Amino acid sequence: MQLSTRLHLLDLIRVATAADSGYRAAGRAVAKASATRQTALAELRARRAALAAAPEAEQEQARLALQEAEESFTRCAERRTAARAKWQRSYDHARRADAALGRQVARLAGRHGADAPRPKGGRARLAADLLRELAATPVELIQAAHAILVQSSAGKDSVVALHRVVQWAKAAGCLDKVVVVHADIGQDAEWPGVRDLAQQQAERYGLKFVVVKSDIGFLGMVERRGLWPDAQNRLCTSTLKRDEAAKLFTQIVTELGLPGQALILNCLGIRADESASRRRKDELAIDHRASNGRRLVLTWHPVFQLSESDIWQEIADEGLDYHPVYDALIPRLSCIFCVLASFDVLVRAVRLCWVLGLPTPKTYVGLESKIGHRFKNQFGIAEVVAEAARLEREEGPITWRRGDAIRHHLGGDAAFAYLHRLALAA
Ligand code: SF4
Repeated sequence: MQLSTRLHLLDLIRVATAADSGYRAAGRAVAKASATRQTALAELRARRAALAAAPEAEQEQARLALQEAEESFTRCAERRTAARAKWQRSYDHARRADAALGRQVARLAGRHGADAPRPKGGRARLAADLLRELAATPVELIQAAHAILVQSSAGKDSVVALHRVVQWAKAAGCLDKVVVVHADIGQDAEWPGVRDLAQQQAERYGLKFVVVKSDIGFLGMVERRGLWPDAQNRLCTSTLKRDEAAKLFTQIVTELGLPGQALILNCLGIRADESASRRRKDELAIDHRASNGRRLVLTWHPVFQLSESDIWQEIADEGLDYHPVYDALIPRLSCIFCVLASFDVLVRAVRLCWVLGLPTPKTYVGLESKIGHRFKNQFGIAEVVAEAARLEREEGPITWRRGDAIRHHLGGDAAFAYLHRLALAA
């Protein structure tokens, strides 16, 4: 099957899925409107009974209350009628979308026989098969795309994802489609130099570099909500990164000015073995929230299958530049204090802040006390700082050397070779 046919099928799946969720939402709206109407009806009956039983002196007041109840019931009934009509329309729309997908699958089955996609197992199965096939041919996928965004935190996984996308884009002869996007979450929350490093990593390949930034930043968001984010409510990622980056999709589509739908690949450096929730993701997926008739957005994880040591191996082999905090054995970049980090990592981050003269621990302790919400369920940042102070008294400030991250993951020889490679490239 041709790649364009796979993409067309994916878009039909997208439309059918969106129509289904529209139908479900309309059903919920009908249930809500019916419940409200029921309440209004009970009120109406109560007002009628009250009028019948009211003494002469209270008749006028009871009549007014009944009139209000009648008006309220009429409004509720109208709302329910409108909701039911929308429900019916969304049902018709969902059926049409499903039928269009079915016709296309049947047509392909007739034309291509055994090569045709199997609708057996449903829409999700068909989408998974198509996406797996597309992910297996990255150069062709990149060739078909109109724009390729690489979301970069400047961290180790991002830099390898970027390097891979660049190699495929070069092979496809379309490096000009690649744009590096960095979400700035606030200088007071990030390790110093993160944004500059993301820019350097993009410039190494001559790529366009775009910074997106919310008005509020990480600490502003926490202060406004009075809560720290957590694994279940990662508003930091959705508000400060995903939603900001999504605004670019509209801009890109407008700039492309295509007569038809644009294909946008949105690449992220996340890996399956980072967490259980990431393992449940796919290497390539339809971004239903960001896609519409004007753009099909596919979320792509080019390093999804790699382990942490695979990542370091690729950094070492390719001579990719990484942030110095990794050498102090901080495992992740981005926020200095990540709400997902373990106690020990946070303690080390505090000690690194002290070596670098950063005010961040004090800022976070102050914010934690101000909002009265602990940094994590199990412990507060004040306890992290207390433990860091204890270790500091026992061991003195932490130290590190350039290359320690590679030394730690791949051994001394690999670190030596890597530093030698960097020195030659400088
Ligand atoms: S690094 Fe952690 S705290 Fe910072 S935005 Fe990402 S998930 Fe949230």
